[in-house]
Amino acid sequence: MAGTLDQVMPSPIRIEEDEQENIARIKELKARYGERVIVLAHHYQRLGVHACGDVTGDSYALCKAAANTGKARDIIFCGVRFMVTSAATLCRDDQQVFHPDRNAGCPMADMANLPQVLRSWLELGEFVDTRQVIPVVYMNSDLDLKSFCGERNGIVCTSSNARKVFDWSFARGKKIFFFPDEHLGRNTANAYGIPRDEIILWDPAQVNGGHSAQAIEKARVILWKGYCHVHTRYTVDMVHEVRARHPGIKIVVHPECTEDVVKIADAVGSTNFIQEYVRKMKPGDKVAIGTEVNMIHRMSVQNPDKLVIPIVRSLCPNMFKISTRDLRDCLEQLDTWEPVKVDPREKHFAKLALDNMLACAG
Ligand code: SF4
Repeated sequence: MAGTLDQVMPSPIRIEEDEQENIARIKELKARYGERVIVLAHHYQRLGVHACGDVTGDSYALCKAAANTGKARDIIFCGVRFMVTSAATLCRDDQQVFHPDRNAGCPMADMANLPQVLRSWLELGEFVDTRQVIPVVYMNSDLDLKSFCGERNGIVCTSSNARKVFDWSFARGKKIFFFPDEHLGRNTANAYGIPRDEIILWDPAQVNGGHSAQAIEKARVILWKGYCHVHTRYTVDMVHEVRARHPGIKIVVHPECTEDVVKIADAVGSTNFIQEYVRKMKPGDKVAIGTEVNMIHRMSVQNPDKLVIPIVRSLCPNMFKISTRDLRDCLEQLDTWEPVKVDPREKHFAKLALDNMLACAG
């Protein structure tokens, strides 16, 4: 393309040989199903799958889409398990949610389980009145943890609304118990101006999270010791290195990155924020991004007149599990594909926590 940087990233993953054929078949099947079917696709999905989404976005946007799907009866969710179970919680009773690959999970979500969280809550209760503690669970968590929060007047948050969720929580309690991602919680608490000595890191492997009674009593934000390996891969040295290689380049990162990286970035935000940031850049502008590499690749392809690169390559092995072949199979076999089932009690309480988020974040 004349007058462009002509530096479009190569695909970070091997492209399926039959991708174009699959996409054509997916389009044909979707046209045949009409309004009965809607396909939701997260920003981290591989390019071909993302292109087949009727709605694409970050987990918050897709959560809202699942709650407002109009006439669709069947929701095909191209994302990881915690997103799919959230959609199955928010959709209407006459709708069904299908996951094209049930093996697509999230290692960070697996870093907090219900027995650990219940034990930690009891331990906290030995030092503070837990009626004054608001449990805040990141969307990237199993449904039983969202249910735990809903049952205790807590709330779900995503990376695009964590600040508003902190407002909501401090209007109702004195402390926030935030799980399972330390870094989103810490970056939000830092931006909120919470002093360092009022933020503690709760290690579920240790008695009382590894803290004294005094530290627990003083803490306003209690962060679970969990992380996303895709985003904690980025380091300060990597940022310096990419800035040295591309003078003038902007650094934009996701808030699951460590606070050291967030502090030296030019901008920080959710995947929707990052996508908008890139879209608004001028031709010839340069940006290095700290998030999942399939999304960066897509933005590079969509913005060939801008330099869009990863700080370093960091791939989520779960997010790209769904292939165009999986999506095609799911659509072709929809009448026999097993829908995602959620426990009714978990669904009831998880929905309270999700609805709290939707009401507070708008
Ligand atoms: S990018 Fe990180 S938080 Fe998101 S699904 Fe992958 S491991 Fe989980």
